[in-house]
Amino acid sequence: MQRLGGSVIHTDATSSSAKKGETLEDSVSVMASYSDVVVLRHPEPGAVARAARHCRKPIINAGDGIGEHPTQALLDVFTIREEIGTVNGLTITMVGDLKNGRTVHSLARLLTLYQVQLQYVSPRGLGMPKHITEFVASKGIPQRVYERLEDVLEDTHVLYMTRIQRERFQSQEEYEKTRGLLVVTPQLMTRARRRMVVMHPLPRVDEISPEFDSDPRAAYFRQAEYGMYVRMALLSMVAGVNPLT
Ligand code: ASP
Repeated sequence: MQRLGGSVIHTDATSSSAKKGETLEDSVSVMASYSDVVVLRHPEPGAVARAARHCRKPIINAGDGIGEHPTQALLDVFTIREEIGTVNGLTITMVGDLKNGRTVHSLARLLTLYQVQLQYVSPRGLGMPKHITEFVASKGIPQRVYERLEDVLEDTHVLYMTRIQRERFQSQEEYEKTRGLLVVTPQLMTRARRRMVVMHPLPRVDEISPEFDSDPRAAYFRQAEYGMYVRMALLSMVAGVNPLT
């Protein structure tokens, strides 16, 4: 928003009237009075959709707990198009905490608009939720589940890594059991195609070793930059302004 020449008013649970007991609906109505667009990140799945019913300005879901992260999915598809040229015909492998990671929920749903094959690799118990796999299946998109990265690399055009979502675990011990199992290293990537990309919504923890960063297939920092442009485009679009004119 700042790069578009606009400004930002920021509020969160500790600084807003939420701590005095104000409902989400009222907080959003007030924010909508002060601004042209509301961007809301919330810990509860479905909360942004609920708030949208009370918002008289455009509202963007910036992530709702383990639910969805639609703007990330838009920038992910943009990244694939920039890096590979097309989305159709690709095999896209999503890796990591597919249960709690909202980015992969939105991306899998968005990719059903294309002709793709989806592959999932996750530690046991952290697989893609059934409501997502059922939605994807209903659109006729083939999906396969694997346990090891070694088994998917040869066919993969887009390797979409995600971190284990530590904040969604009951205890540190439970988190420790699942971290560090699926890790991209330069050595592992000798098994992958030469023309493919590794993406990550960031922040990364230990699922991509920093030694891989200099590989041309490491697209995650370029992806972060594309994300800024995609979100600029989205903000201009919903605010009804064309920054180029
Ligand atoms: N930044 C992404 C999100 O907000 C990914 C992550 O946190 O792992 O969901």
